Amino acid sequence: MQGDNDGLASFWMPFTANRAYKAHPRQIVSASGMHYQSGDGRTILDGTAGLWCSNAGHCRTEIAAAMARAAATLDFAPTFQLGHPAAFELAQRLAALMPPGLDRIFFTNSGSESVDTALKIALAVQRARGQGTRTRLIGRERGYHGVGFGGISVGGIVGNRRAFALLPGADHLRHTHDPARNAFSRGFPPHGAELADDLQRLVDLHGAETIAAVIVEPMAGSTGVLLPPVGYLERLRAICDRNGILLIFDEVITAFGRVGAATAAQAWGVTPDILTMAKGLTNAAVPMGAVAVKRELHDAVIESAPGGIELAHGYTYSGHPLACAAGLAALDLYAREGLFERAAELAPYWEAAAHGLRGRRHIVDIRTIGLVAGMELEPRPDAPTARAMELFHRAFDAGLLVRATGDIIALSPPLIVEKAQIDQMFGMLGELLDTIA
Ligand code: PMP
Repeated sequence: MQGDNDGLASFWMPFTANRAYKAHPRQIVSASGMHYQSGDGRTILDGTAGLWCSNAGHCRTEIAAAMARAAATLDFAPTFQLGHPAAFELAQRLAALMPPGLDRIFFTNSGSESVDTALKIALAVQRARGQGTRTRLIGRERGYHGVGFGGISVGGIVGNRRAFALLPGADHLRHTHDPARNAFSRGFPPHGAELADDLQRLVDLHGAETIAAVIVEPMAGSTGVLLPPVGYLERLRAICDRNGILLIFDEVITAFGRVGAATAAQAWGVTPDILTMAKGLTNAAVPMGAVAVKRELHDAVIESAPGGIELAHGYTYSGHPLACAAGLAALDLYAREGLFERAAELAPYWEAAAHGLRGRRHIVDIRTIGLVAGMELEPRPDAPTARAMELFHRAFDAGLLVRATGDIIALSPPLIVEKAQIDQMFGMLGELLDTIA
């Protein structure tokens, strides 16, 4: 401790109002299953699986044991010009879990790295196909694709973009959030498939020969659980096919069971060309991400550089042994406990519980899919976003972790959640809504 004597000053916290946090710190000191323990000794029900990532619940002993074994036998091995068995095994296991055809796996260490890797692979594929003029990357308003320069550039969060969006040629589809037409609809909202035609408008505007790829979250998580309108993803897929554009699904949140299948692509029947993942890949026990690529796209890149390094890209920790061990153990757990299926089975109960809050103070929309919910609050005219933040604080103090984003409260519990805990979450939120300004 130097200078400030509160012990909190040195850590420059990410995506945090540091001054406000440090004036009223709230800390987590341990975790188990569905719960966190706070620094002041309280038990907190985890309504968000950490940051949408601890899908099998916290501190699973099988994962901890696998990581401990790896740390004691092979703490690190390069995957540049070398390899180790767990990396090959995990790639093979992931390939089997992905939508059909996406069976080539590149390892990263985070969602942000997965996104930047996917964008680079898209450019490499287009170049390998003799389409080197295709350099433009298309994202979507209110998209979140992490914090790499590529991800920020295709991302659609205005504050992030203003500060850092540097990639030339990025453009955006409109977002699909339309509460005027879709509020309180159940499952996919009925209106808005035509918004996918924005991609055709960008093709008409810029020329297909300039566009490499479009990246979307099948369900936008971080900006408030925005679900794809009925038919939207299919329409995007068709426009990509007609125009030689690669479709990238950013499944950093949706992969590994969140929407009731291994991926949203499989749950919803639309197959991208490239798929990013992270978070649930290791149950968040250690950082890891990955990118799944259609085999023929991978092969085009490999064949484009016979004898040389085909993709000039990689991380020291691509396929880190501890992460691979955690990933293999997490996939075993997901399968053994049937957690993806469990999410699908619980989804109707979850939806009914969430919609039970309809009519409560401040609530202007409720959206759910799988085991995700977004509850939109009417913004306070004097202080937009303050209402959700107040609810977040009150919930934490009452023993429930939720996520506040804008004026939306997002819930995404571990997939081991019990019905009684679902009732507890929405019951607490209902009561707390009456207490906020
Ligand atoms: N893409 C999506 C869809 C995400 O939700 C996130 C994180 N919430 C990221 C990318 C970035 O992941 P990370 O924070 O691991 O870099």
